[in-house]
Amino acid sequence: MGKNDILFERAQKTIPGGVNSPVRAFRQVGGTPRFVAKAKGPYFWDAEGTRYIDLIMSWGPMIAGHANPEVVEAVKQAAETSFSYGAPTEGEIELAERICQLVPSIEQVRMVSSGTEATMSALRLARGHTGRDLIIKFEGCYHGHADSLLVKAGSGLLTFADSTQNAPSSGGVPQDLVKHTLVLPYNDVQALKEVFVKQGDQVAAVIIEPFAGNMNLIKPSKEFLSTLRQLTSEHGSVLIYDEVMTGFRVALGGAQSLQVITPDLTCLGKVMGGGMPMAAFGGKKEIMSKLAPLGNVYQAGTLSGNPVAVAAGLKTLEIISREGFFDCLTGQTEKLMSGFKLAADEAGVPFAVDSVGGMFGFYFANEVPTSFEAVTKTDIEAFKKFFHLMLDQGVYLAPSAYEAGFTSITHDNGVLEEIITAAKTAFKKL
Ligand SMILES: *Cc1c(COP(=O)(O)O)cnc(C)c1O
Repeated sequence: MGKNDILFERAQKTIPGGVNSPVRAFRQVGGTPRFVAKAKGPYFWDAEGTRYIDLIMSWGPMIAGHANPEVVEAVKQAAETSFSYGAPTEGEIELAERICQLVPSIEQVRMVSSGTEATMSALRLARGHTGRDLIIKFEGCYHGHADSLLVKAGSGLLTFADSTQNAPSSGGVPQDLVKHTLVLPYNDVQALKEVFVKQGDQVAAVIIEPFAGNMNLIKPSKEFLSTLRQLTSEHGSVLIYDEVMTGFRVALGGAQSLQVITPDLTCLGKVMGGGMPMAAFGGKKEIMSKLAPLGNVYQAGTLSGNPVAVAAGLKTLEIISREGFFDCLTGQTEKLMSGFKLAADEAGVPFAVDSVGGMFGFYFANEVPTSFEAVTKTDIEAFKKFFHLMLDQGVYLAPSAYEAGFTSITHDNGVLEEIITAAKTAFKKL
C-alpha cells in the first residue's frame, strides 16, 4: 500500500469520507485521492513524492502559481504583526478600493471568509432591500452550500410556480426554505420570461454564475444575459453575479467586463484571497448601505477582512493587474485546449473544448454543451478513463466531469507541451 492509501485510510477514521470538501474524495472517478505534501508554480508533489502538473490550482485561487514568491513574502510580513485583530486595518481599505476600481459595478464591498458566506449574505441583503422572499437560480449553478441555494427543480418546469416541484439537493434543508427558491434551466430565455410574467413582482433576486464553472464550463448566450438584466431591472429584482469563480479569473474585471453587463451585486472569492480564506460581496451603494451597522440587514464575521488574507489578496491582485497578464494567461489556456482537441481528433475521439481567460472546459461530446442537461449527456465513462490515464502520467485534472479546469501564469509552454503529450497518449488508449 502506498502512502496516499495509508493516509486515506487514516483520514477516514476521523474525517467523514476522509476529506474536508466532498469532490476531493475522487468518488466520481474512483481511486485514491492524492494527499498533497507541497506545491510550487504549476506543480504539486503528493505524499509519495510524485510530481503532478496541477490543472485545478485550488479550484481557481492560485492564478499566480503555487507559492508565488511575492505572495509568500507579503503573507510573511503580515503574519509577523499577528494574524487577526477583530478591529479594522488600512489593508482592508486598500483592498476594497482596489476591488471597486477593478470591478466598476462595485461601489461598496464587504469582506467575508468564504464564497458560501458571500452568496448567503448577498441573498439576505437582496431580500432585505426588496422586502421579497423569492429567489431564482439556474440548474447546475453552484453558489456555495447555504440552505436556500442547495435546491434543484423537479422536472415539471412549466409548473415552476408550484413550490412542491422543488426538491432540495441536500438532506437537512427544510422544505419551507426551498419553496422560496425557483430553479430554471441555464440559457432558457423562454422559461425566464414566463416566470417573470407570473411572479416577477415577488422576485427578490436572481443569482447566476455568469460563466458557469460548476457543471463543467458553460457559457451563457447574449440574449439570455440581456433578457436577465432587462427583466430584473423592470421588476425591481436584484441581479446577483456570483463571480466567486470567474472574478479576477476570466478577466481582470471579471465576467461582467467581458459581457458588458452591470449587475446590482457581485460575489467574489477564490482568486481575491490568493489561496487564503477570503471572499467578498459588493455592488450598488444604495443596496450595500442597507447592511449593518448602517442598515437593518445583519452580517458579521470574526475573521472577516483577516489581515494575512488581505495581504495575500492585495499582492495577487497586484500581480494579475500587470500589463499582459491576462493576455498571456488567456493565450496559454486556449493553446492547452486546442492541443487537447487536436490530440482527440487524431485519435478519432468525439471531443469539444472551450475556455475563457484562465478557465477551461472539455467535453466528451460532439459539441460544447449549453445547459446542465446537455452536460449530463456527455460521455462520463470516457472522462473517467481519461482522468486516470492523465493522472498516471502526472497530470492532475479535476476528479469530476462536472468541474471546470484552471491554469496559472506559471503554466508556460514547456508545461503545456508536457500536458499535451500526455493527452495524446491518453486519447490513443481510450
Ligand atoms: C466556489 C464557489 C462558491 C463557494 O465558495 P466557497 O469559498 O467554497 O464557499 C460559490 N460560488 C461559486 C460560483 C463558486 O465557484
